[in-house]
Amino acid sequence: LTNYRGRQVVVLGLARSGVAAAKLFHDVGANVVVNDKKERDQCPEADELTALGISVVCGHHPDGLVTESTALLVKNPGIPYTAPPIVEALRLGVEVVSEVEVAGQLSPAPIVGITGSNGKTTTTTLTGVLLEEAGLKPLIAGNIGRPLSEASLEVEPDGWLVAELSSFQLKGTTDFRPRIACLLNVAETHLDYHGSMEDYVDSKAKLFENQTADDISVYNEDDETCRRLAASFKGRAFPFSVTRTLKAGVMIDPPYAAIRPAEDEAEDEEDAERWIVSRDGNGTERRILRVAELGIPGRHNAANALAAIAIALAAGAEPERLVEPLRAFRGVEHRLEYVGTFGGVKYYNDSKATNPMATTMSILSLSSPLILIAGGLDRGSDYMELLPIFRDRVKGLATLGETREKLARVAGLAGLTDVKIVEPVEDAEQTLRRAVQEAAAMAEPGDIVLLSPACASWDMFSSYEDRGRIFKQSAHTL
Ligand code: ADP
Repeated sequence: LTNYRGRQVVVLGLARSGVAAAKLFHDVGANVVVNDKKERDQCPEADELTALGISVVCGHHPDGLVTESTALLVKNPGIPYTAPPIVEALRLGVEVVSEVEVAGQLSPAPIVGITGSNGKTTTTTLTGVLLEEAGLKPLIAGNIGRPLSEASLEVEPDGWLVAELSSFQLKGTTDFRPRIACLLNVAETHLDYHGSMEDYVDSKAKLFENQTADDISVYNEDDETCRRLAASFKGRAFPFSVTRTLKAGVMIDPPYAAIRPAEDEAEDEEDAERWIVSRDGNGTERRILRVAELGIPGRHNAANALAAIAIALAAGAEPERLVEPLRAFRGVEHRLEYVGTFGGVKYYNDSKATNPMATTMSILSLSSPLILIAGGLDRGSDYMELLPIFRDRVKGLATLGETREKLARVAGLAGLTDVKIVEPVEDAEQTLRRAVQEAAAMAEPGDIVLLSPACASWDMFSSYEDRGRIFKQSAHTL
């Protein structure tokens, strides 16, 4: 970083990661300019940076922000590559990176990088727990919360920096090289930002690009895209699978017939006899624990657990130290979180399910009859991929947000008769409350009400956490 002393570094986007990056470069003596399109009164972080002597420009992207003498542009992962300062930087040949790239260069500890369309936070959190219990001193950061560059200054050299990474963050990396990289799955999502599926997949693949034979590549053997990408991974392959018996990797014995649960309960009961097994390159096999002992429900979560186990083993954890934490880990808030039973109806908060694949997996993890509350930001999908699950597993739908008409149409095509379109009332909170009331009215004792929106929350709420909290309050006050 000292290469940047006395040179201009532009930080675009004033979120937590931008603040962390600005401070880092300021500390090494770079001439830092921070810019955000938001008005200054919407940038609470601005004052803190100004007080340090960092120049902060809010409200617009000024002309001439990036010039030929700019050494580096650090962008917030959410800002598209079409934003004028980025277009200008690329035209001038100025390097454009995300704060993750900076963290990769700073971390004294090896890095675990975890990405995928779904299951990142669950897997990252569980990986952190497993490494902690194994005494490997992990620090988790990245997309999950605190900026990676901030954590990279604190992680112990003999520990591990465990990074949850979005495709947005990965797109802005050049030399980032995790000692252990993990790809969970690839679903069609975020196409609005990436423009094409190819670009999205390429971003995910960047996690593996700089790995060498000394590194380890963990990936999902059940996912077609992961399998295809794995052919060109340079690290040592460490696959996991819930449906296949692997020569080496982490798997379930006997394997599931498919990733989706069978319709009959019998197969679920067999979980008691299904083992999570690891097998090394020499064919030495170890039973770790039974699937039924996992503290998190559903086959998708079993896959997440396999990924975390693979990472922990690759990092050198003793298998026997993984058992207790795998039993104890109950998942993360807003991910298929059990809220309570009200009027004989069980309520689950899955606000983090922001795409159809996530919603599908969650519905498959619960028993029916099920009333779904869904809808949110419209990213241009027609949501037809929800049709089979609506037809087979959903009894009623209360739909809200920008996508409400689209989801109601899919439900209609799936033959659902209990469909309530919740029109916006005075504010988002009241609208969601109404949706919960509509769902409660459709439910009978023994049913499940599930908030699993299949869409992001930003059309109505500031975050999925906000949406999840309001849902939980509404359920409690029914
Ligand atoms: P992410 O951080 O990638 O958004 P989370 O761990 O927060 O993923 O889980 C978000 C939602 O995605 C969960 O509530 C669940 O509905 C779904 N999900 C979790 N893991 C998987 C998986 N392995 N495959 C498919 N869907 C998943």
